[in-house]
Amino acid sequence: MSEKLQAIRGMNDILPTQIAHWQRLEATAQRLLNGYGFGEIRLPLIEKTELFARSIGAATDIVEKEMYTFDDRNGDSLSLRPEGTASVVRAGIQQGLLHNTICKFWYSGPMFRHERPQKGRYRQFHQIGAECFGLAGPAIDAELILFTAQLWQELGLQGLELQINSLGDRQSRINFKAALVEYLQDYRDQLDADSLRRLETNPLRILDSKNAQTQSLLIKAPSLLDYIDTESRDHFETLKSLLDQQQLLYRVNDRLVRGLDYYNRTVFEWITTELGAQGTVCAGGRYDGLVEQLGGRATPAVGFAMGEERLVELLLQVGEAPKPTHLTFIGFDDQALPTLLKLAQQCRHQLLDHRIEIDYQGGNMGKKLNRANKTGVDIVVIIGGDELAEQTATVKFLREKRPQTTISQSQLVEFLET
Ligand code: ATP
Ligand code: MG
Repeated sequence: MSEKLQAIRGMNDILPTQIAHWQRLEATAQRLLNGYGFGEIRLPLIEKTELFARSIGAATDIVEKEMYTFDDRNGDSLSLRPEGTASVVRAGIQQGLLHNTICKFWYSGPMFRHERPQKGRYRQFHQIGAECFGLAGPAIDAELILFTAQLWQELGLQGLELQINSLGDRQSRINFKAALVEYLQDYRDQLDADSLRRLETNPLRILDSKNAQTQSLLIKAPSLLDYIDTESRDHFETLKSLLDQQQLLYRVNDRLVRGLDYYNRTVFEWITTELGAQGTVCAGGRYDGLVEQLGGRATPAVGFAMGEERLVELLLQVGEAPKPTHLTFIGFDDQALPTLLKLAQQCRHQLLDHRIEIDYQGGNMGKKLNRANKTGVDIVVIIGGDELAEQTATVKFLREKRPQTTISQSQLVEFLET
């Protein structure tokens, strides 16, 4: 026998048995996002590599080592998208959507990063994200954060911690980087290899290190918040007071930076302790320089992306997703088929939130009933010989304590609705 083909490591099949939480997450997010005035945008999965290099930053993990990059048949360098923001900005500029106006977009779909697969970290994963262009003030930052808080509430997710920080403007980050590098120079011999490299290429990312020894070195390191410019400080203070007024709890974490270069001012993450090392379920912030950096006119912007795999994992911990009422039609033999189909179609047109099927498999009525029981069916509609002759249907409730009832076929839908 030839060897069985396998999916690529870190890329998962999501089966119908697992899909309920995904659908609930996506439907709830979609409903809320539309309600907050965001419009859905659907973008290509593949873009020119240059787009990501110019936006995410050449000295980031993503661009340095995580992208799926290849030459197409014309010799152009293309990459599977590792995130959504760059494409949203590219599309906004290309379609001329961002001039002198406020634009709010959301997107969802697969992203690709060649990381080491582990729980909560995959090579194809899914994000739902939102971006708002044209507003510089902190109120929209607060609104995006409030949106995410409402989403957790609607989904019944508790115990997520909101962390916020401000990265200041470009100059404040340059000043801070210099101070951080100077501080860390004295500890070069204690830094891990990754951090040593970043000391030259992207020192801010050292704050993000998952290495425990590096983290302990950072306890006494300079704090970003001591270096931010006055306007960014005001922006951050207003954001905090807006969140306070909405009674939304947060923790200021002056070590919070994002893995992508394009952020300034507000950054935030929602973190859970329930998922082990991969605890960030949503991350976002402000990126006022990116539109100009990619060739558009200077436009303030803020957004976030959440990781669907991690949120689904949390939803699984909360409990089973509600299932629709499952109805099966069974007939005594093939003579009953036209009636089964007719009645099932009537029900399918009226009972839109039910799962309605016909048992086409063989066996006597006892066997068919058994099968229904085993597969979790809630209600069986039986068309036996008598029912066929008398144009009736027998309804049997497998989960509820309701008596088996024989009614006229013309009353079936109405009976099942109650
Ligand atoms: P991390 O520090 O966990 O690598 P990140 O900073 O690379 O995260 P972002 O680029 O901000 O992550 O992506 C936003 C969210 O997408 C993350 O908070 C996480 O929930 C999810 N995410 C990112 N990378 C992966 C992945 N490889 N597998 C599953 N989910 C992911
Ligand atoms: Mg990452």
